[in-house]
Amino acid sequence: MLDVFNANYDRAAQYVNASPDLLDNIRTCHSMYFMQFPVRIRGEVRLFQAFRAEHSQHRQPTKGGLRFAPHVDLPEVATLAALMTLKCAIVNVPFGGAKGGIALAPRDYTEEELERITRRYTTELIRKNFIGPGVDVPAPDMGTSEREMAWIANTYNMLHPNGLDNLACVTGKPVPQGGIRGRREATGRGVLYALREFFLHQDLVKCTGLSGSMVDKRVVVQGLGNVGSHFARLAQDEDHAVIVGVGEADCTLHAPDGLDIHQVLAWKEKTGSIRDFPGATTLEEPRACLELACDILVPAAIENQITANNASRVRAPLVAEAANSPTTAEADAILRQRGTVIIPDIYANAGGVTVSYFEWVKNLSHMRFGRMAKRVGIQTQRRMITGIEALTGEVFPSALRDDMLHGIDELELVNSGLEETMIDAFQEIVSIMNREGTEDLRTAAFVCGLNKVVMAYEQLGIWP
Ligand code: NAD
Repeated sequence: MLDVFNANYDRAAQYVNASPDLLDNIRTCHSMYFMQFPVRIRGEVRLFQAFRAEHSQHRQPTKGGLRFAPHVDLPEVATLAALMTLKCAIVNVPFGGAKGGIALAPRDYTEEELERITRRYTTELIRKNFIGPGVDVPAPDMGTSEREMAWIANTYNMLHPNGLDNLACVTGKPVPQGGIRGRREATGRGVLYALREFFLHQDLVKCTGLSGSMVDKRVVVQGLGNVGSHFARLAQDEDHAVIVGVGEADCTLHAPDGLDIHQVLAWKEKTGSIRDFPGATTLEEPRACLELACDILVPAAIENQITANNASRVRAPLVAEAANSPTTAEADAILRQRGTVIIPDIYANAGGVTVSYFEWVKNLSHMRFGRMAKRVGIQTQRRMITGIEALTGEVFPSALRDDMLHGIDELELVNSGLEETMIDAFQEIVSIMNREGTEDLRTAAFVCGLNKVVMAYEQLGIWP
């Protein structure tokens, strides 16, 4: 993963007006914590290896997900933390980048055991000042969810009695525990907003040979976890895209006429796998999904999936990287050479951290978004409707009236903020691509992030 990051970083650095030593400093991960702690599991003392990397403190707190995966190690979290620094800069979220992980396979442990491991990890982070509302704020990533974030918040809170801002020490919490509506699906929704915006840029769309919008586009999704399942559901329900294939760790499903993603998710929930879903062909090879005929391929599982071995067989003209680093550096070069357009991970999956930022702000303000303004908004709309009725002598259409009088709630505000962020960032990336003549969106996105981090370093200076 580090080689992919370095290749992309080096390509982008050519377009950035900064000295090589500053660029080297920005590339480097500044703080890394490798810990090994014991937890009693089924009567035996088991040692766990765990990590937290804080890439850059030019903005504080640092922010990034926590993954539970058997293969996770320090170079991986350090690289992902570097990606987070640039990602936050791209979407104008005022955080430095971080990432954490515990080397374990969640399915090997009971819920109670996972709780003990998560709480011990949190305690270790507290002991070394690697967590806190103004220090470093974890969030869900592969293998973790709201449940783990609630344990982290509770552990932090128990060890910081009377800390008014304690809830802001972690994001992605359940809504009743200080979470925010819309965070669960934010990364998948952000990918969809990125694609919607892509289809408004005719020059780019032309390169793919596609036209129109997301409607009726044939989409393949790899990985039906948090990111992939919400993306697929929203693409089908809100944009009428057709999901023609999905891939999971054990197999691929293919249905050229389309799958009902709700039924696939229910099947997965019931049987524990997508295998043998009725009405679709099950292909044994998990990575077969990457090679299916489709308009848009959305890798949303793990890293290094599109490689030098299979890149030439990717048939989608458009790839939206929902996962982090799903394309190796060699595969990226092959796809670029073949003219495949890639909406890069560093931008495409930034919806998660964007809404995490909203949650952090909500926790610090101690109030749900929209609470103060909702009634005022409804009353203003009501006065307007009454005025229009008085002036025209007509009764206002009832469906429109209901729509205008329901008021704006937290979820609508969150989605609106997310949409604005994704649109804004896409336009910034495209304008850099046009201005600098970068060969792809990925390089332009890196330049976009790097320019802002460089500016912060230059304005802040280096001290002590
Ligand atoms: P998750 O653990 O919820 O889901 C991952 C899914 O991928 C699971 O369904 C798993 O079975 C499947 N999978 C695992 N190995 C696979 C393989 N070899 N082939 C096909 N499928 C496989 O994780 P997630 O939170 O959805 O994260 C997915 C990706 O998105 C990761 O790269 C993560 O870093 C990135 N991401 C997540 C978020 C977030 O908010 N959760 C934000 C930004 C980026």
